[in-house]
Amino acid sequence: MKQLKLNNGQMIPQLGLGVFKVQDANDLRRSVTDALKSGYRHFDTAAIYHNEAWLGEALAESGIKREELFITSKVWNSHTTYEDTITAFHESLKKLQTDYLDLYLIHWPSEGYNEKWRAMESLYAEGLIKSIGVSNFEKPHIEKLLTTAKVKPAIDQVETHPYFQQKKLHDYLKSLDIAHEAWGPLGQGKGHVLEDPTLAKIADAHNKSIAQIILRWHLQRDIVVIPKSIHTERIAQNIDVFDFTLTDEEMTLISMIDKNQRGSGDPNDTEWLKESLNRN
Ligand code: NDP
Repeated sequence: MKQLKLNNGQMIPQLGLGVFKVQDANDLRRSVTDALKSGYRHFDTAAIYHNEAWLGEALAESGIKREELFITSKVWNSHTTYEDTITAFHESLKKLQTDYLDLYLIHWPSEGYNEKWRAMESLYAEGLIKSIGVSNFEKPHIEKLLTTAKVKPAIDQVETHPYFQQKKLHDYLKSLDIAHEAWGPLGQGKGHVLEDPTLAKIADAHNKSIAQIILRWHLQRDIVVIPKSIHTERIAQNIDVFDFTLTDEEMTLISMIDKNQRGSGDPNDTEWLKESLNRN
């Protein structure tokens, strides 16, 4: 598995398994077991997914050494203060049955994120988190964060797929040496990206699926990907993307199918962010 070096020197496996919307304990356990068998070592969850405990159980039962795993979780919007963030982190840690996280992210740029960051910096200084980062942060959010931050985020996890390529944000993150991580890397199975004719042609040429072409395209943009699936065959397929390379021409063709079309939550939707403070 290819690893990327983050701006603090820590390594991250460039491909992992996402577990958003896996709301059944058996599905989660099975998909994690399948993923480990296929070679995945990186898992992405969040407190708001309400499945950290199942992920923790599945990883503990696997018998794989903790240091071989890379576990990410995220602090939810309802925790707006320093103390709350520390408490939320320890709850996640307990559910995940571990004594440190590899990556902890601020889930959305909602109220109080500079304070949350201060708490994450403390946890990072204590060695309880190997890397700290943000999610759904755009340039203005990062600029505001950096006015008080002592530690620069290692990662920004944002919606990214061929119909929402985030070219400007990608360049901005690169200029700051903040790694770009894609959520919804397959377009969340929505918006017909998995039936795109340009991608279908490239897939035929490589004898791969469209999903594999998309994941390979992310990897060649130096993006970290965390595709989600609860199907054994797809889980295996999604990691089988290290034995071929897209040509420069194919990368250019894919860059041209961008529709700048968001599929889900918008970090600029301040009303939604306000409402999310009351959700748990
Ligand atoms: P993805 O882009 O990973 O798409 C998942 C969908 O694609 C599922 O419906 C899955 O179906 C389907 N799928 C997976 N592999 C294949 C394949 N090879 N062929 C065809 N269909 C496939 O969307 P997610 O929203 O799950 O994003 C990935 C991860 O990113 C999440 O699980 C979560 O960890 C993280 N995330 C973070 C967010 C944030 O705000 N920070 C927001 C959203 C996600 P099936 O499972 O039935 O196989």
